[in-house]
Amino acid sequence: MTATILDGKAFAAAVRAKVAEHVTRLKTDHGITPGLAVVLVGEDPASQVYVRSKGKMTVEVGMASFEHRLDADTSESALLALVEKLNNDPTVHGILVQLPLPGHLDSDLVINSIDPAKDVDGFHISNVGLLGTGQKSMVPCTPLGCLMMLRAHHGSLSGMNAVVIGRSNIVGKPMAQLLLNDSCTVTICHSRTRDLPGVVRSGDIVVAAVGRPEMVPGDWIKPGATVIDVGINRVADGDRTRLVGDIDFASASAVAGAITPVPGGVGPMTIACLLANTVTACCRANGLPEPEGLAA
Ligand code: NDP
Repeated sequence: MTATILDGKAFAAAVRAKVAEHVTRLKTDHGITPGLAVVLVGEDPASQVYVRSKGKMTVEVGMASFEHRLDADTSESALLALVEKLNNDPTVHGILVQLPLPGHLDSDLVINSIDPAKDVDGFHISNVGLLGTGQKSMVPCTPLGCLMMLRAHHGSLSGMNAVVIGRSNIVGKPMAQLLLNDSCTVTICHSRTRDLPGVVRSGDIVVAAVGRPEMVPGDWIKPGATVIDVGINRVADGDRTRLVGDIDFASASAVAGAITPVPGGVGPMTIACLLANTVTACCRANGLPEPEGLAA
């Protein structure tokens, strides 16, 4: 079998186009411009790249982008004061504090100070609780992107066996919750899981979010399964480096029914879903109908 490639770039472009269409409608029909504020503390090079491309894509879909770059030694009280200001700013519908924060700042405290209605990363404890109880919430962007691709490929996920490898708060746990909310039978694996290959082989859907290069070989994959590779790992390739996922793409794509590549799979969906969450937050804040197909 040769797997269908789930093209994250194309999916993400379609999501952004839908967002842009809705932004235009909000502007012309209601005079509202959705706004996304991104807060970056310090100079982490990877975070700087993410923040730059988030800002660029926010503007490209017609939304307002507010970037706040703070020194690495910014105090917790100064950061909390900025979040409070953004919470009260009616032109800001989404707030994202780029993680990781420098060590002297309490990430949980900062994230939980964001107005849950503006928490477009979906990390606020209220949103975690809402998602966990199957209520309307802001959903973390990466798992939301995975869910959108799975729904687009399968239609209904009801009754499928889904195996999620990884139990982080950012990817693994919300991913499992979303699959459960879509009526999958969900197994969550982690570093202590016994017989990981055997468990993975039970999955009609496998989502790998581990951070270990190519750790899942093709012979762990059930023939015809749909494989979503969240991992982003940089490995040496001669005197260069290249990106690989947590799945061994070459062997897995010979067995799976469908698979996301790395790069070009889940990655592009994350920012697209951030934009989708912002437009959803804007609609909710203004009591307007939400765009269809952009939320969980
Ligand atoms: P974390 O390090 O927070 O979590 C990794 C998880 O993998 C943990 O639950 C850990 O188990 C589990 N794990 C580690 N080793 C094994 C093993 N040998 N067998 C089974 N499970 C194992 O990572 P994240 O969830 O934040 O990220 C995971 C990957 O996804 C990374 O490569 C990251 O770069 C990528 N990522 C990609 C995004 C995108 O936009 N595409 C966005 C976010 C992340 P335990 O809990 O027991 O330690």
